[in-house]
Amino acid sequence: MSNVIQLLPDHVANQIAAGEVVQRPASVIKELLENSIDAKASRIQVVIKDAGKTLVQVIDDGVGMNLTDARMSFERHATSKIKLADDLFSLRTKGFRGEALASIAAIAHVELKTRTEEDEVGTCLKVEGSQVVSQDPCVTPKGTCISVKNLFYNIPARRNFLKSDNVETRHIIDEFQRVALAHPDISFSLTHNGNELFQLPVASSRQRITNILGGKTNEKLVPVEEDTEIVKVSGFVGKPEFAKKSRGEQFFFVNNRFIKSPYLNHAVVAAYEGLLKEKSYPTYFLYLEVDPKSIDINIHPTKTEIKFDDEHALYAILKSSIKHSLGQFNVSPMLDFERDAELDTPYEYKDKEVRVPEVEVDRNFNPFQNESSPKNNYSGGSTGYKRDRQPEWESLYSGMQAETETEVDVRQIEFESEEVTGNLFGAKEEQTEKSTFQVQKKYIVSTLKSGILVIDQHRAHTRVLYEELLKNITVSSAVSQQLLFPLRLQFNHHEVEMLKEIKESLEQTGFIFSEIKKDEVEITGIPTLISESEVEILLEQLIADFEKDVPDNGFSQTDLLAKSLANSMAVRSGTLLNSAEQQHIVNRLFACKEPALSPFNKTVFTTLSVDELDKKFA
Ligand code: ADP
Ligand code: MG
Repeated sequence: MSNVIQLLPDHVANQIAAGEVVQRPASVIKELLENSIDAKASRIQVVIKDAGKTLVQVIDDGVGMNLTDARMSFERHATSKIKLADDLFSLRTKGFRGEALASIAAIAHVELKTRTEEDEVGTCLKVEGSQVVSQDPCVTPKGTCISVKNLFYNIPARRNFLKSDNVETRHIIDEFQRVALAHPDISFSLTHNGNELFQLPVASSRQRITNILGGKTNEKLVPVEEDTEIVKVSGFVGKPEFAKKSRGEQFFFVNNRFIKSPYLNHAVVAAYEGLLKEKSYPTYFLYLEVDPKSIDINIHPTKTEIKFDDEHALYAILKSSIKHSLGQFNVSPMLDFERDAELDTPYEYKDKEVRVPEVEVDRNFNPFQNESSPKNNYSGGSTGYKRDRQPEWESLYSGMQAETETEVDVRQIEFESEEVTGNLFGAKEEQTEKSTFQVQKKYIVSTLKSGILVIDQHRAHTRVLYEELLKNITVSSAVSQQLLFPLRLQFNHHEVEMLKEIKESLEQTGFIFSEIKKDEVEITGIPTLISESEVEILLEQLIADFEKDVPDNGFSQTDLLAKSLANSMAVRSGTLLNSAEQQHIVNRLFACKEPALSPFNKTVFTTLSVDELDKKFA
């Protein structure tokens, strides 16, 4: 048999490598930004068209390349950053694999313009599918400008695999933010289809965070600072009450490189123990400085996962330093020296003259006046002092009593309320109303001819709302309630992008968005089924659900939207329902197409037949 093994031609090898490094336009941005940072740029501009599918352009004012280096840069394993394998363990640069440019040039039309400080003319190089198509001297400022056009033009399968423009833009913003957060000392801008999405001047890391995530972020942050032999930790964690419904704002940077680490994330969450509401995620921006020798970055092609020598120690240090910061913040208000003190004066007082506060003394007051007759203390003593105190003390006890009592009282209350409503509706209705009752504010029980029916109230209502919302979105017949005053809600940039993406579907459920800004949306109408106070939580949950599970087509997007909204809007278990409400849910449930399962495929109801009951009494 003849030999069957052969070496792959370069352009094929490059395409294969590209599969690992370049998944989507956002990966191109990440690689190009990292190259610009490695080239010591102080200003980096990113320009994209059609979510990067048509154009990704990165312009920097870094060291640039001479003609030979420019040619070399597109070769695989061509890098200026390491020479020996040992260098891998003292990395200070972002790149080192020498693969990015070769990979990108294998699957796109690339134009490189670059000039070094010393050279008078620059180089313009065009590469398409790994082939250099032209090379000319050109006039260009010092630094490098790389344009990547028509990504995946020669791999239609990959191109078709790309998600909608909105989804791809979101990925781009994610990557851009991660890099920009890691380098507040470099100025960045991002422009999409002519719209400037970010313009970030050189700043402190706190300002950079605020510039990226919106003005309100600043007041939510608590600084973290810890310097030990194995790691230097700095950055910020979010105050617990601002924890989010999604993991959107969680960032670790190790030696200025964004990384993902479930293990370290666990350390942070552990530091918040007891401070967070259920299913909420703390915000954090944590910068770790470690000896490059103590980590291995080369375990993943996109370099977002790294291995630490001493993970356990890092865990412990991180957890304790965050705990410390949170504790400090809890006892003393945070001091922020960068803040303009004048901003803190409430507006009404701003121009008023300062008045010395007067002290008013009640000279007749004698705290011991009534002390001699202890009997009076708790039976409504005669002085104002005692009378004021009394209910307060009592309420401490009554609170405790009430807690245990409600458990017992629940059924009594319900029966009562049932009878009252029953009377209002007259005798005829009373009969039907009696056919349902609530157990533990969680289940609705109804009698059937053949036995009894037990319904999970939350799941049943979710099913009802889900089908209704789906109908509204697809047939667009929703009514909305106009708000008297527009509702302004703050979101971060990323969240706003996500809302834009589902705006149309949301409008079909009854939302009316009057304005969508960079980090704020204004709402003038909401679905009739919800109240104004619920809107923020509902949208936050929606964004969190979309973040977990990015739907790739219109149908699954509608479905996810309906599921998420239905789940947030449905009555919770623990909610007391009157008979009319119970009946309403039961009737509507059985008018559904699929009453037996919740939209999340959970059982909605169960029955217990007379036969089964008989068996129990046998
Ligand atoms: P790596 O970054 O791993 O070295 P790349 O393929 O990303 O590999 O880049 C190859 C080489 O091209 C880099 O090592 C660097 O010398 C040069 N290079 C790439 N981008 C730039 C840039 N923006 N400015 C200056 N030099 C660059
Ligand atoms: Mg690189």
